[in-house]
Amino acid sequence: MKWPRHVKRPSVSTFRRQIRGRTVTDVLRRGKFILIPLDEQVLVIHLMMSGDLHMQESTNPRGKFEHTVFEFESGWQLRFSDSRKFGRVMLLKDVSEIDNSLGPEPLADDFDPRLLGEILLKHKRLLKPLLMDQHMIAGLGNIYVDEALHRAKLHPLRHSDSLNAGEIKALWKGIRRSLQAGLRHNGASIDWVYRGGDFQNHFRVYGRKGEPCPVCATAIVRIVVGQRGTHFCPTCQVEEHAQS
Ligand SMILES: [Zn+2]
Repeated sequence: MKWPRHVKRPSVSTFRRQIRGRTVTDVLRRGKFILIPLDEQVLVIHLMMSGDLHMQESTNPRGKFEHTVFEFESGWQLRFSDSRKFGRVMLLKDVSEIDNSLGPEPLADDFDPRLLGEILLKHKRLLKPLLMDQHMIAGLGNIYVDEALHRAKLHPLRHSDSLNAGEIKALWKGIRRSLQAGLRHNGASIDWVYRGGDFQNHFRVYGRKGEPCPVCATAIVRIVVGQRGTHFCPTCQVEEHAQS
């Protein structure tokens, strides 16, 4: 462990002691967390901005950013590479703590327009920060929210309780389609050290300030909402809709 600050809980020494000799029983995901249930406790990893996990034989030389390494008896290693060192590793008793802190999974069968509508109506917030909030819906990051709002033709600063049924349905569809597009392209690689997919070549608005909207060719605009760069088409995503 070259970067002990990866370990958020418990203390580094307890973490080292408790993870020794454990057996991996599964690999799961909840929101942006990777959950690795062990025969006792569960290993939780958050990749954050630049994290990457890969299996390597222990004889392979260690990469510059492979700060945290888990050794397996088979001679293989799970290596957590993280150039910006924002990633986190935790050892928890069970997944309930993570589970209870997160909103529904947007790709789950029970995430329907009605459930999304309830969340939007109840919280009365601006769309962009609400959708980014992991307590509301789990797993949406900056890219996927911008892409989903463009697909739904909704301005990022619309109030969540101002959407009509058609707009809620469009947003629901936009969220699912954006995530599915990301999965299809194996995710986005916006960091040079991250060995991800090519979704970044298919963005509709994210990171495309001044470039033409794929729907109407208007130049994409970038604003800052809640300290996050936010991209949208001022023609497709008008700020004020007639309320119905
Ligand atoms: Zn447009």
